[in-house]
Amino acid sequence: MNVYDGQRIVSMLCGRGLIQTENVATADLIILNTCAVREKASNKVFSELGRIRDRKKPDALFGIVGCVAREEGANAFRRIPELNFVLGPQSYHKLPEILDNPDARLLNVDLSGLEKFDALPPSTESPAVAYIPIQEGCDHCCTYCIVPYTRGRELSRDFDDVMRDVLDAADNGAIEICFLGQNVNGYKNSLANLIRETAKIDSIKRIRFTSSYPTEMSDDLIALFGTEPKLLPFLNMPIQSGSPDVLTRMNRPYNLDLYIDIVNKLRSVRPDIQISSDFIVGFPGETDSDFEMTCDIAQKIGYINSYSFKYSPRPHTAAALMKDQIPESVKKQRLKILDDILTENNRQFNESCIGKTMSCLVEGPDKTGRHLLARTPWMQQVIVNASTKTAPLQSIRITNANKCSLRGEIVKTEL
Ligand code: SAH
Repeated sequence: MNVYDGQRIVSMLCGRGLIQTENVATADLIILNTCAVREKASNKVFSELGRIRDRKKPDALFGIVGCVAREEGANAFRRIPELNFVLGPQSYHKLPEILDNPDARLLNVDLSGLEKFDALPPSTESPAVAYIPIQEGCDHCCTYCIVPYTRGRELSRDFDDVMRDVLDAADNGAIEICFLGQNVNGYKNSLANLIRETAKIDSIKRIRFTSSYPTEMSDDLIALFGTEPKLLPFLNMPIQSGSPDVLTRMNRPYNLDLYIDIVNKLRSVRPDIQISSDFIVGFPGETDSDFEMTCDIAQKIGYINSYSFKYSPRPHTAAALMKDQIPESVKKQRLKILDDILTENNRQFNESCIGKTMSCLVEGPDKTGRHLLARTPWMQQVIVNASTKTAPLQSIRITNANKCSLRGEIVKTEL
């Protein structure tokens, strides 16, 4: 979501004649796009703003957009008085106002719903992967999560508006579409229909979506994994914890049997599907045996490419006020144990790919310029010995693997 927001900000401002730079010392306008999901990221924002203030040109405008802006509001101006703007995740389309009126402070952290999608100019970017949000906000109210506060209630965009964005992205050269939302499978106008409609576009070769709420996987969507070859065999469906008690306190009251049943159904229609999850360890009251259940499910499902976090108390959330907060040292130990399991899952899956040939999306050169980086249908990174970006979709034979990535060689150009 943040990557998408960042891209839209860049393309909006480039449309006004600005040129993108990463050099803080020479920039005329500096924007820090922020995430408030965990405390650490949120805290870093203000130290980073202090650094920017000391390095920027005296007359350069600077400010924050995104969820920390929404969380802090006018308080951000008290913490860093030199700030010129503070705009929430649903009001960054108002950014050009600061260019028209650079002497005024711009503050807008309103939850204006889907307004930004109409207000933003069409994207002029031409990436191979187009991220397209189909909803804003979230109604699930997990007790640890600040998102319903920073991004508001869940709203689904119009089907036709989304399809217009998909067609624009295809016209701009996208070959992969990733539908975005906090709870993307809960999209009110049918995610399955959106995927079917998108798959009809010849130049779109890969479709995926993130992230999904377990109880909202409809049978129609599950079946589509078996019938729609453009839908990648990879699904992020966060379980967060393997303990029914912890899940209840997280206000994610799904039954583990139901979760496993969905995974089994997905595997029966698409045997090569791989599942990824997000995990939180050290949620208030989590016992050793609760944590063991999380480790068990991580092994049992064999998740790949997952994300694991230490629980971080956030303002405006119920869990922050719960008793039995877990000491940092215990959270750290548990995270290490879980990470070892997740890494081992990745290593095993990566090694199972050696010798296979798969269709991969080429992202571009690596930092050395001697290799190309590509993504498999399961979102693993492949490093290829080639320096110039040839075509966006290549058939790649996997020659080697470790816990982090794959090595491969181009067999033939697909597109
Ligand atoms: N809607 C997405 C969540 C977006 S935030 C979902 O339900 O999966 C991305 C991930 O950050 C979450 O899945 C969760 O694992 C993690 N997260 C959210 N709040 C957190 C907190 N307070 N502490 C630690 N991790 C958190």
